Amino acid sequence: MTELIGIDLGTTYSCVAYMNGDRPEIIPNFEGNNTTPSVVSFTANGERLVGLPALRQALTNPENTIYSVKRLIGKKFNSPEMQKIRQHVPYKISEAANGDILIEAGGRLYSPQEISSFILAYLKTCAESFLGTDVEEAVITVPAYFNDHQRQATKDAAAISGLDVIRIINEPTAASLAYGLESRKEGLLAVYDLGGGTFDITILEMNDGVFHVLSTSGDTFLGGDDFDNCLISSLLQEFREANQVDLVQDKFALQRIKEAAEKAKRELSFTTETEVNLPFICSTEDGSLHIKKKISRSYLERLTENLVDRTLTISQAALSEAKVNPARVDEVILVGGQTRMPLVKQKVTQFFGRTPAARINPDEIVALGAAIQAKIIRGSINNLVLLLDVTPFSLGIETENGGFEKIIERNTTIPARKTMAFTTVENNQRRVKIHVLQGESPRAEENKSLATFDLVGVDPAPAGVPQIDVTFEIDGDGLLKVAARDVNTGREQKVVVKPAAGLLPEELQEIINRRKKEVADSHDKQGLL
Ligand code: AMP
Repeated sequence: MTELIGIDLGTTYSCVAYMNGDRPEIIPNFEGNNTTPSVVSFTANGERLVGLPALRQALTNPENTIYSVKRLIGKKFNSPEMQKIRQHVPYKISEAANGDILIEAGGRLYSPQEISSFILAYLKTCAESFLGTDVEEAVITVPAYFNDHQRQATKDAAAISGLDVIRIINEPTAASLAYGLESRKEGLLAVYDLGGGTFDITILEMNDGVFHVLSTSGDTFLGGDDFDNCLISSLLQEFREANQVDLVQDKFALQRIKEAAEKAKRELSFTTETEVNLPFICSTEDGSLHIKKKISRSYLERLTENLVDRTLTISQAALSEAKVNPARVDEVILVGGQTRMPLVKQKVTQFFGRTPAARINPDEIVALGAAIQAKIIRGSINNLVLLLDVTPFSLGIETENGGFEKIIERNTTIPARKTMAFTTVENNQRRVKIHVLQGESPRAEENKSLATFDLVGVDPAPAGVPQIDVTFEIDGDGLLKVAARDVNTGREQKVVVKPAAGLLPEELQEIINRRKKEVADSHDKQGLL
């Protein structure tokens, strides 16, 4: 059997771990670092770089350096979030034929799944080199608040990279596994996870090896990138007012400001004042212009306080769903790089009335938990551990007049399944259409359309006579599966699935084949065959 790995595929950084006996350990990358920038760059001479070398290109090659792709995965081009993100990134985002997103780089169009697959393939290679063996299977983590499309797209990215995903698990749940098994603590745990692009809060109970998630909530568009953007916007505005020059269209200047803002934000977690110093940021007819500005921690806090408050409103919602008040929580753990910000720590401490657990590395704990989960699934963990996670959104179907009927409520323990009986409304009707959506609104159009399922080849019969039992299942990965059975004949009913987003199986296969060919060609070139 090959080695199993756990991967935290992050918005800004990714991390990979494995089980060394009964202990999870981080696998360093080729530069010797425990985390790898989630960045892919395409150079002018056709080379593809991943991680730190790619990040180093960002300044000189901004249009072909792709970062934060996790914010794009599984999203529609026309979504409001995507329109916002297009203004902030220097690379080009366009619309695919099915309304998904395509990224233009290195003279080609890539789906976000493909870009993510380059990062996964890099981590796979690092793991193979470190462990000295093939790695074919992995547990990959996703934000708890990822919907079906985002989860499926992550799974597709892994397939393209040559990894078989044995389970998709939620990042906070992975963190709780690593924390719970190491600390041997029991009771009610809140995992507050503020990463580069997403926020998740999960409330769970740990008792006797059982990790039971009570509720989860979040925002897949609230993370460290938004803190950076507050500072970037303020620098741009001040520059515009002082010089009557708008730097928004200047991709090189924008990239420099972005890097400087993120660096300043990080520094302000450890010092109370820092400086953004960007000489020759642009040149005008009157000469060169520069940015030189002192930034205090309190200034950054004023700019971003509303973002931290948003996380607390979401945390309150998760606690209400779990029917517990903050004071009942026995332990709070902080996950994700953005939780290093003192204001975040301070507000979370105030909110829960307790200091978050110490000695946790917020960048590594999720990957460690993923490695543990891989070993649990393979049944080779000594202690008995049971993980009961939940679905973050309600699943339902469109009813007459655009209504939405919930079939599986959010925060239901997964895997979950429910069977509903469908029939025909016309005589000899051969086809029944079912539109499945995810969300909480009573109006179908306000929820996320997942797919339409056509029950085809229904036996001719008077209206209302056929009875087709349709079983909706949310599996352990949080993904939807649908099966149907004709009750009168006992036969399996054929279902034609039209997903509302994502790669079709044939598109995925084509990309996998192309990637295999690319790898074979490069081996050929290096005489490795
Ligand atoms: P993650 O996705 O968990 O790797 O989180 C990455 C986010 O954490 C990025 O937005 C980073 O800018 C942010 N981050 C990392 N270190 C710090 C720090 N010292 N202070 C504030 N934010 C940080």
